[in-house]
Amino acid sequence: MLIVMRHGASDEEVHRVIAVIEELGYQARSMPGAQRVAVGLVGNDGRVDASRLEGLPGVQEVIHVSKPYKQVSREWQTEATIVRLPGGVAVGGSDVVAMAGPCSVENERQILDAARAVREAGAVVLRGGAFKPRTSPYAFQGLGRPGLKLLAKAREETGLLVCTEAMDPDGVGWVSEVADIIQLGARNMQNYSLLKAAGRAGKPVLLKRGISATLTELLLSAEYLLAEGNHDVILCERGVRGFDPATRNILDLTAIPLVHKLSHLPIVADPSHGTGLRDQVIPMARAAVAAGADGIMIEVHPDPTKALSDGAQSLYPQQFAQLMREVRVIAEVVGRRIAEPVPVGA
Ligand code: PEP
Ligand code: MN
Repeated sequence: MLIVMRHGASDEEVHRVIAVIEELGYQARSMPGAQRVAVGLVGNDGRVDASRLEGLPGVQEVIHVSKPYKQVSREWQTEATIVRLPGGVAVGGSDVVAMAGPCSVENERQILDAARAVREAGAVVLRGGAFKPRTSPYAFQGLGRPGLKLLAKAREETGLLVCTEAMDPDGVGWVSEVADIIQLGARNMQNYSLLKAAGRAGKPVLLKRGISATLTELLLSAEYLLAEGNHDVILCERGVRGFDPATRNILDLTAIPLVHKLSHLPIVADPSHGTGLRDQVIPMARAAVAAGADGIMIEVHPDPTKALSDGAQSLYPQQFAQLMREVRVIAEVVGRRIAEPVPVGA
């Protein structure tokens, strides 16, 4: 429930609304806007008597958020959330942010080569998993904590920000020491103890859509993060399981404009996992930018034939450079701009 104050409502009137919400046993969240202040009532279980609030001085209207997710909805917040990262990088504004790198951190040479190549092509964020959720327990599981150190080294050398996955609440602690963005993977989208830990981590989170998750489920998972106090959430469309084995997943591009309609949170597209096929990544990345994605996440490996995970969907560095040239043009057509890389040491 959202209590919208009249333009020019006094501080005392706002405080009175907050006090009544707290008296009723709920949390109040004050949300100053450009035009007027709104106060969110958090944790509404449907029993709140709106008339107690409607009659208070300074209150213009009480809006009942109709969606099951509340704080992530557009009804709750009309302006788009801009997730601010170090170095002035902003996800959710007019910039389109390129995040690129290998599926997994494999060794120092591989991650540094990948970082230099994607930086050179114009990526802003280095992606790469130190902890890997793999379907088979016998597949490469990632380097673990030593992999995080290598990511930190790559950031130091290139100025790239780091996005890397945390798989469990302990991992959230380790990852947040190094990462600029904590990635929560598709398989973990509904791991609620992980969501709660990431919601308290004090770092931006990239939340990937689950393999068979509806958009309502994705937004409800994001709601866990906001409910824990973390408002810096970036959603990621990475494809959903389809019926056709021709592609690894079906990249749901409609999710991009639809999420923008339903929620104020930014959404990026991952056509690497969305297609599973190197040659299909480039056209689908172009399409994602055209559809309004706030960023693209692309797997790039210095030598995909030797990759320890997801080689078949990883671009060669020169393919990524070509893609970046193309999306620069497409971004401009839709009134956006590809974000500039952060200078080293910024
Ligand atoms: C990844 O980003 O490498 C990954 C494991 O992605 P997803 O969680 O979308 O499968
Ligand atoms: Mn991968």
